[in-house]
Amino acid sequence: MRVRRVVADNPSPYTGPGTNTWIVEGDPVAVVIDPGPDDDRHLAAIEERLAGAAVGAILVTHSHPDHLPLAARLGDRHHANVLRYPELGEGDLVQLGKVRLRALHTPGHASDHLCFLQEEDRAVFTGDLVLGKGSTMITYPDGDMAAYLHSLDRLLEVRPSILFPGHWDPVEDPLPKLEEYKRHRLDREEQVLRALAEGPSDSAELTRRVYASEISGEQLLRAAEMTLQAHLRKLVEEGRVRSEGSLYSLP
Ligand SMILES: [Zn+2]
Repeated sequence: MRVRRVVADNPSPYTGPGTNTWIVEGDPVAVVIDPGPDDDRHLAAIEERLAGAAVGAILVTHSHPDHLPLAARLGDRHHANVLRYPELGEGDLVQLGKVRLRALHTPGHASDHLCFLQEEDRAVFTGDLVLGKGSTMITYPDGDMAAYLHSLDRLLEVRPSILFPGHWDPVEDPLPKLEEYKRHRLDREEQVLRALAEGPSDSAELTRRVYASEISGEQLLRAAEMTLQAHLRKLVEEGRVRSEGSLYSLP
């Protein structure tokens, strides 16, 4: 499989250097994964990388604004279908010439999240399930921590040899990375439980207890609070945390 990357010019604390648009070269057509934000220069950069090749299909890992919007214009130009959840679901195969990609439904970061597995090379396009660096956002209410952990397990089952993430560089040693991602979430869960042992609290106060030493700035703290709420929902559903109005406590 030959893969090329075009990085969109949308760097931020959440998108890293920018969104990765992946071009899987096929014969006679290419497949584009995650066209990115609707941006003229990014569209021109993708066309330049395609070097005249036709696009047979456009696959989108999830509908967030840094991954999906350019799909419509790119699809129109190439008369190519845009495929994403729920048109594609767990196990569905996209085959175009020599390109074969299997969809894995991997909710958690977003409820409509898919990864795409190229089975021969066990290469996985991971969208925002796993990033090349740092950790991904699981934000309540669309983000679902229990689903996210299941999705990491789903990816581990595939025993991937390389990950092509939605942001930052490819992950050449996926298994330790996936284990690290799981450990990070489970460690965070332990921190939430320890913070609740100090006494009942609402999610804003809990966020300060858990993240104060790591994060400063209102905007990042608010984002952290949404992640913390995703942890709380999982813990409440598991009966490990009690919720009453806006207050959380240990049972
Ligand atoms: Zn996303």
